[in-house]
Amino acid sequence: MVSGVRRPLLVVMCLVLAGCGTQAAGTPTAEPRPASPTTTSSAPPPTTTSSPAPPSPKPTKAPPPRKPAASVSGVVVLDPGHNGGNAANPAAINKPVPAGRGQTKACNTTGTATNAGFPEHAFTWAVSLQVRDILTARGVKVLLTRPTDTGVGPCVNQRAAVGNQSAADAVVSIHADGSTSPSAHGFHVAYSSPPLNAQQGEPSMRLARTMRDGLRSAGFPLSTYIGSAGLSPRADLGGLNLSERPAVLVECGNMRNATEAAAFSSKAGQRSYATAIAAAILAYLG
Ligand code: ZN
Repeated sequence: MVSGVRRPLLVVMCLVLAGCGTQAAGTPTAEPRPASPTTTSSAPPPTTTSSPAPPSPKPTKAPPPRKPAASVSGVVVLDPGHNGGNAANPAAINKPVPAGRGQTKACNTTGTATNAGFPEHAFTWAVSLQVRDILTARGVKVLLTRPTDTGVGPCVNQRAAVGNQSAADAVVSIHADGSTSPSAHGFHVAYSSPPLNAQQGEPSMRLARTMRDGLRSAGFPLSTYIGSAGLSPRADLGGLNLSERPAVLVECGNMRNATEAAAFSSKAGQRSYATAIAAAILAYLG
């Protein structure tokens, strides 16, 4: 308790000591109250004993308030694989479109699903939205290649154009694989190879390595069945071939593997992939 006699002494202490905002509620004071008690949560507790000590000549300095995460500039295009309306519109998604290296490919595909029927497009959509939110909170401008999970397409060349036309600093396509071998598991990161332009060279390879390292450090296993050490050079993926920006395609794992299917289908699992992918993108943007 604070007596009326001792109150002036405490006011003097407040003017000397840092962190006085933690004093007992209701104590009259001329000092402004902190906007949030959490900003001074590690300050020493208020002195409420009957024998308050005299002000120390060297008051303990309260630690500085926790700094918010630094803002990161950049433009990122997230490409959630496939779309919810693809399966019901085969004519539209089977239409051949330019796919780079003089080839054509189907506009888009339906994607795969877990054995329980959870579709890849729903997984890639859920993860992409969470990656977007994490990046946006850090100041990154994020574009998605499709606005909903109920549409058709867009075609792979249209998806690549989103990254090119926005001069994206990084383009990340998000997928999950459908190997018929149930024991096959682990993620891999695909990049265009041999590169068709400068951005498909070292910038894309650095993005691929950063993504691989980020997922691995988050605890996700490297693919046991595709690529090498979690990296997969590819010449047949239209979205990567057509990209003029640093671009990778993340296959998060195998939807036919029971363990990974459970993760892909759960909110917690989706969150863990999104957190790791977003962190890797932020690490790449520096
Ligand atoms: Zn896919």
